[in-house]
Amino acid sequence: MGRGALKIVFSRLYSLSVSKGFAMAAFGGWNKEKWVWNFIWRRNLFEWEKQIAKRLFQEVQGVNFDLDKEDRWVWKEGEELGYTVKSPYLRLREDEVGENGTMFKKFWKSKVVPAALVTAWRVLENKLATKANLKRRGITVASSTCSLCGVEEETSTTHLFFECRVAWLLWNHCCAWLGVQRVFPI
Ligand SMILES: [Zn+2]
Repeated sequence: MGRGALKIVFSRLYSLSVSKGFAMAAFGGWNKEKWVWNFIWRRNLFEWEKQIAKRLFQEVQGVNFDLDKEDRWVWKEGEELGYTVKSPYLRLREDEVGENGTMFKKFWKSKVVPAALVTAWRVLENKLATKANLKRRGITVASSTCSLCGVEEETSTTHLFFECRVAWLLWNHCCAWLGVQRVFPI
């Protein structure tokens, strides 16, 4: 369902169901051509649980089953194109990297000076006022050549911080100075 699996959204009722782990067919049946829901609980529901059950009924009432169609798996992330390799990648990346993702939770907790942290965040989110970003916002930039190397075009934050040969040298020097192995993408 829209808000997630019913057994999680209505976890209290699920714990009282006699059909835990069963398929949907265990929660109702066909009456002529109409599906009728029939939830069976292990005991009588308390008043407050009845309210939850009422919400559950309201939620499932709108679900229509089609007897003429075969059951099939549907990939909800990319309903238009169906399943593509890209769609789960984007979803997983969102979970990991998105503002509330695991990576950012660790990121904001790190013991780095706030100004450096904010700059790093702006790099990761491509929010720095790079030439490419200024151009994208309609601001006239005299030259799109990279300010560091003066050779290549500064097309993105990635160039400025990682791909640029000058940035690359700087990183190498910093790593040597700190005595750490490089872990940057080439
Ligand atoms: Zn450059």
